[in-house]
Amino acid sequence: MSTAPIPGQNPTYEDYARCVHCGLCLSACPTYRLWNLEADSPRGRIHQMIHIWQTENAKPAQPDPANTKQSAPADSTHLRGTITASFVDHIDKCLDCRACETVCPSAVEYGKLVEHARAIIERDYQRPLFTRLARKFVFRELLPRPDRIAIVARVLRFYQRFGLQSLARATGILKLLGLADRERLLPRIDDSFFFKQLGRTFPAVGTRRARVAFFAGCIAQVTFTQLNDATIRVLTGNGCEVVVPAAQLCCGALAAHAGVRDAARDLARKNLAAFPLENFDAIVTNAAGCGSTLKEYDHLFSTGEPEHAQAVPFRAKVRDVTEFLASLGVSATLQPLKPLTLRVTYQDSCHLLHGQKIRNAPRQLLSAIPGLELVELPHSEICCGSAGIYNVTQTEASLDLLADKMRHAAATGAEAIVTANPGCLLQLRAGTQLHHTNQEVLHVVELLDRSMRAS
Ligand code: SF4
Ligand code: SF4
Repeated sequence: MSTAPIPGQNPTYEDYARCVHCGLCLSACPTYRLWNLEADSPRGRIHQMIHIWQTENAKPAQPDPANTKQSAPADSTHLRGTITASFVDHIDKCLDCRACETVCPSAVEYGKLVEHARAIIERDYQRPLFTRLARKFVFRELLPRPDRIAIVARVLRFYQRFGLQSLARATGILKLLGLADRERLLPRIDDSFFFKQLGRTFPAVGTRRARVAFFAGCIAQVTFTQLNDATIRVLTGNGCEVVVPAAQLCCGALAAHAGVRDAARDLARKNLAAFPLENFDAIVTNAAGCGSTLKEYDHLFSTGEPEHAQAVPFRAKVRDVTEFLASLGVSATLQPLKPLTLRVTYQDSCHLLHGQKIRNAPRQLLSAIPGLELVELPHSEICCGSAGIYNVTQTEASLDLLADKMRHAAATGAEAIVTANPGCLLQLRAGTQLHHTNQEVLHVVELLDRSMRAS
């Protein structure tokens, strides 16, 4: 195992000590609400992290020259025993939803703390062989390689379209393999992938109001092609010239959240080079999870590294599509919004609300659609259970959170649930099927697009 320091910006003791144990975050934490366990609360997790920090930063005791029987001081590897299976379990069970940050009166930056804890786990803890292989494949071999994402997507599409999925479900083999719940959350693979749009420029409708670069995502390019197409239509329809830089890759959010810091840094480096800032007024994304990480690329590099200096102006240009459109103003003349008679409710995406502190922009855009009735969703600030790959790694907890979410969504009487992140869309779509709520699940820009194209 490596003893190398975790690269990038690491928390100091003061970052942990900012937690004053007030407990105001407990009721905002989805895992504490599920299990009522201090160790699965933000406060409890920070307490465990402080213990690791103190052990890691403790100086080994100096040998007493008078005591000749004393053994030699251990090297830093003696600290490894502090990363216990129990610590890993409590940190793994955290959704990294950052709801605790929003409510914390002491401004604890919990996201940074948990991602650092995960990087330590990645460095110092030996997970079971299959888990290690799966993580290596996903974070190092698959996500950084669009060609491999396309291959895996084609295999899955074959499985979904040619009767294998129905067969696997009907025979019960998935249950036998313990994969039934995970398989139900599998997204539908698109007929045609968004990859073919990379490198293209889409002209603005009417007079150009802005020139933006579109960040297209990784898995989204094989599962959310229609959403990406709709985003481009809404942006161009509002006077934006949209460039889709060809060399862009996965943002690295999934790797960063999982503690695979070097893989996230590699992806960040490539994306920093792929978006020449001087050419664009903004870098726009329709994925709140990606946007949150793109806006924090500077955290992945220490202040002395050249990438840090690149990441600072880069983050200043990143905009969530709802944030960008709300500040630009949806055009009343270019492609005006037409009435949609629909009752909808809005689920806040954690990395938009808690990660980027954006609450009003999506609601403002929805309210701009004539005829649309927006009903507030109780507990919309609580995670739906998607949380990156959480629904795959912690499926039971994820499904429990989803069940709660669907119950609240059904109670609103809304015909559609609207959100602002592809991961949430997948989870909520699975929820409507599992709980038979017969509700549509849409991204904010899909509704704007529908309204713009309505006759
Ligand atoms: S609200 Fe903030 S300060 Fe209070 S216990 Fe939670 S993390 Fe600590
Ligand atoms: S990030 Fe979310 S799940 Fe994790 S401790 Fe904070 S509120 Fe709880």
